[in-house]
Amino acid sequence: MAQEDYYKVLGVDRNASDEDISKAYRRLAKKYHPDLNHEPGAEEKYKQVNDAYEVLHDKQKRAQYDQFGAAGVNGQGGFGGAGQGFGGFSDFGDIFNDIFGAGGGQRQRVDPTAPQKGQDLDYTLTIDFMDAINGKKTQVSYNRDETCPTCNGTGAERGTHPITCDKCHGSGYMTITQQSAFGVIQRQTVCDKCHGQGVIIEHPCNECHGKGTIEAKNTIEVDIPAGIDNGQTLRYEAQGEAGKNGGPYGDLYISYRIKPSKEFERRGTTIYTTVPISFAQAALGDDIKVKTVHGEKELKIPAGTQPNSKFTMRGEGVPYLRGGGNGDQITTVEVVIPKKVNEDQKEALLDFVKASGESITPQGKGFFERLKDKLNLD
Ligand SMILES: [Zn+2]
Ligand SMILES: [Zn+2]
Repeated sequence: MAQEDYYKVLGVDRNASDEDISKAYRRLAKKYHPDLNHEPGAEEKYKQVNDAYEVLHDKQKRAQYDQFGAAGVNGQGGFGGAGQGFGGFSDFGDIFNDIFGAGGGQRQRVDPTAPQKGQDLDYTLTIDFMDAINGKKTQVSYNRDETCPTCNGTGAERGTHPITCDKCHGSGYMTITQQSAFGVIQRQTVCDKCHGQGVIIEHPCNECHGKGTIEAKNTIEVDIPAGIDNGQTLRYEAQGEAGKNGGPYGDLYISYRIKPSKEFERRGTTIYTTVPISFAQAALGDDIKVKTVHGEKELKIPAGTQPNSKFTMRGEGVPYLRGGGNGDQITTVEVVIPKKVNEDQKEALLDFVKASGESITPQGKGFFERLKDKLNLD
């Protein structure tokens, strides 16, 4: 199936606020919901709306999508893509309630003993300017909750098992019946015996004290791709916290911060730099060497180059993150006027003035004095 633009699917623009996105989603989910809309294609549309919302209402996934397109969220090691359903999205239920009203029958209660994916973690990694250009293999260490190796995550002492809660029969919820002025009201509440876990651990594991997880240091190899930019976030699958009930680990999101360079300014994949050239080089032209992120490269300065002229050095910029070449370097030439000139230079300049048919009045005492001396000698 061709990937639709998620913003178009929801009919919002790229700068849409979270609220705009939620509003658009509510409207469209209601419009295309298979229970409400039996037109052909409605179900497919409903699925697209859900896929789009799954990504765009999540800050990190949205950033990933904005940077890398659908490949960033669905491709290799993506976010699970279509068909994963709504299980992992905690506020989905709330939105569903908004659409159908509480108790509309659409909301499914989560089985507390069902496998649940672990929490995602965020990490900020600051790297040197040139490492972002060339890419780098490095290690990142942080603490996370890992599945307890002693009890294998059950929380129960070795040789024992958690038992199903007899009060809620494993659902984690109890129904309370109350008499009120409006009649009998039935209300569901979290089971007070198992605290919503659905199971009771009679003999807790010694290592994790029944939690099923222990805090441990995790070290991963990170292969920073050449061309990574400041503020970009990459996802590292299953490097987050341990899941519940045998569910998978959450993911780690590394946000990259890139230290500025003293020599280069970077905007996207373009590098900006300034080089000084002399008045003579500007007037007559020259081949000069210019520093780029790929080393010193030759730049032809044509005769008659004006101050602050910009030259595009194709392919001398930042590597494209997805490969296939580099951006450009824009080099601005700064024509440097000498602050001091020696006797020979002065004479040459005066000759130049004469040859140009100009008449000038040079300033500065020393200069003027010596000019007068020169005239007296003649
Ligand atoms: Zn344990
Ligand atoms: Zn219970």
